[in-house]
Amino acid sequence: MRYLIDFYSLLCLFLISVGKIFIFVHVDSLVFAAFFISLTGSMFTMLIKHNHCHLTIFRAAPLNYIMDNWLNVLPVTSTSSVKIVHNINHHDAVNDENIDWVSTKRFEKRGNLVGCILYVLTAPYLTVIKKSEWLSKNKNRRIFKYNLLENIMLIITVILLGLISFKAVLIVIILPAMALQFVLALVNYLQHFDTKDRNSNDIYWKWFNFLFFNVGYHNRHHDYPSLHWSLLSKDTK
Ligand SMILES: [Zn+2]
Repeated sequence: MRYLIDFYSLLCLFLISVGKIFIFVHVDSLVFAAFFISLTGSMFTMLIKHNHCHLTIFRAAPLNYIMDNWLNVLPVTSTSSVKIVHNINHHDAVNDENIDWVSTKRFEKRGNLVGCILYVLTAPYLTVIKKSEWLSKNKNRRIFKYNLLENIMLIITVILLGLISFKAVLIVIILPAMALQFVLALVNYLQHFDTKDRNSNDIYWKWFNFLFFNVGYHNRHHDYPSLHWSLLSKDTK
């Protein structure tokens, strides 16, 4: 492990996994709660996944491959998708209207609230279209093949779980995975709306950053995307 503090990341993933298995088994008595608990777990997982996509938790490739799959199954998204949409496009474009696939700029012109609602409703669709276009132009890259492999493994996992309980798969896996894309769009909007010159909106609350892996120091993260999340702060130079 590169940084011991990632035991906190692993502990969170362990608790999320136990929670998801519990609600999968007890979905009949939970229903709506199961959906929201699963969605919350997926949101936390995406924070850890984002960090892992920038700087792998382990140094050893086999361990990172296991991490990739663990981080894929919980929210039902692939690490390669995060790398294409976030690491490759977003970090290069930083909300530039012309090159960021999901820039907030065009939507902000409709007013912050209306713009936000329109953005959240459209960004997941735009992301899928743009990612597909990118993949079709990059078929020779390793990430194309890895994306295919990850998606096949995810589909097989969902089908196998569906054989156990279709209702549980729908409420605990498929619906939260769809809702997650809208939540991620909302987070991206809040991080980038009404900013200029490749800046983003920061949140400096200590408790917030303690809980959410320093995600509030977003400007510093854009300045140093490969810097471990635990080293980010308002004063990172
Ligand atoms: Zn990032």
